[in-house]
Amino acid sequence: MSKSSIPDLIIGEHTINAGEQKRFQLEMPPLYTDTSMGIPVYVQRGKREGPTLFVSAAIHGDELNGIEIVSRLIKSPSIKNLRGTLIAIPMVNIYGVLNQSRYLPDRRDLNRCFPGSKKGSLAGRIARLFLDEVVSKSDYGIDLHTGAIHRSNLPQIRANLNDELTAEMAKAFGVPVLLNADIRDGSLRQAAADEGARVLLYEAGQALRYDEFSIRAGVKGIVSVMRQIGMLNKTKHKGRKVEPFIARQSGWVRANESGFVLHKAQLGDHVEKGDVLATISNPFGEPLDDLISPATGVIIGKQNIPLAQEGEAIYHIAYFKQPDTVAEHVEMLQDNLGSSDSMLVG
Ligand SMILES: [Zn+2]
Repeated sequence: MSKSSIPDLIIGEHTINAGEQKRFQLEMPPLYTDTSMGIPVYVQRGKREGPTLFVSAAIHGDELNGIEIVSRLIKSPSIKNLRGTLIAIPMVNIYGVLNQSRYLPDRRDLNRCFPGSKKGSLAGRIARLFLDEVVSKSDYGIDLHTGAIHRSNLPQIRANLNDELTAEMAKAFGVPVLLNADIRDGSLRQAAADEGARVLLYEAGQALRYDEFSIRAGVKGIVSVMRQIGMLNKTKHKGRKVEPFIARQSGWVRANESGFVLHKAQLGDHVEKGDVLATISNPFGEPLDDLISPATGVIIGKQNIPLAQEGEAIYHIAYFKQPDTVAEHVEMLQDNLGSSDSMLVG
C-alpha cells in the first residue's frame, strides 16, 4: 500500500501508486527468434480517487489511427489532473502491427478470441492476458478501431446502448452516429462487459492510414468521456452541441455487377430510399448497374477503391428514424474540430 488511502494498482510485475505515471511492457510469448515481446502500457494515476478507464488501440494490427489518438491523449495537458486511473495501450496486437495485418500470426482475429485462456491458442493467451491485467482492473474502456483496408468509416461509436450508463458515455463522446451493438461475438467489448466494465468501440477512418479528422474526433471524444465519468472536471461547452443520432440497424449495399465504381454518395451523406449511390461500368464506360440505397439513412462506411467484384460491399448505411439533419450534424462536428470538409471523405 502507498501512503494514500487509494490502493496500489498492479499490472504484470509493475506497481503503480496514486499520483504516479509509468510506462512499461506487459510481457507476451516471445517470437521463435528468441526476441522478447511486450504490449506497451502507459498508466497515469491521479492523487484523488476516481474510476479506472482503459483506452486500447490496434487490437486489429493494421488499424493505426488509435495509436496516434493514444499518443496525443497521453500528451494532452487536459488530462494532467485526473481523478482515478488512465491505462492507455497504444497497441494490443503487436504481431499484427509488425506484419501490418489485422490478424495474429496464427491467422486468428484477436477481437473474436475473448475471453481467451492461459492454455489456449496464441490469440486466446493474449486475450486472456489483456483481460486479466487491464480489463478486469477497469471500470470503463474505450477500444479504438478503423475501417478495413480501402474502406473508410465515418467517426462513430458502437456500444450496448440498452445500458443507460453506456449510452450516456456514448453520447458524451460527441460523434454524429451511435450504433447499437449488443451481440455476443468474442470481442473485447463483450468480454469487458462480462467483467462489469462499460465499453465503447470507436470506429473511424481506414486501416493503414492516419486520418486527421478521425484522430482529432477520437482524442476530443475520450477527453469528453473522461469528464462525463468524473475523471476530469466538466467544462462549459464550447461550440454548438452535437446531439448524436442513434441507429439500431445498419446494412451493406453490395455490387450486383463486377466493374468500375463511380461514387456519387460520400461518407456522412444522408440518403433516401431509392437514391443512386454509385454507378458500376465496364472498362468502356458503359453503365452496367446502379447501386441503390435500400432505405433512408446515413453513410457510415464506404469502399474507397473504385473496383468492384460482384457481391462486394460498397456502402455501409446506418438506418435512422430521424435522418434529416445528420449531414448537418456532421458539418457541425467538423466546425467544432476546425477541420476542412475534405477530411470526412476518406
Ligand atoms: Zn477493428
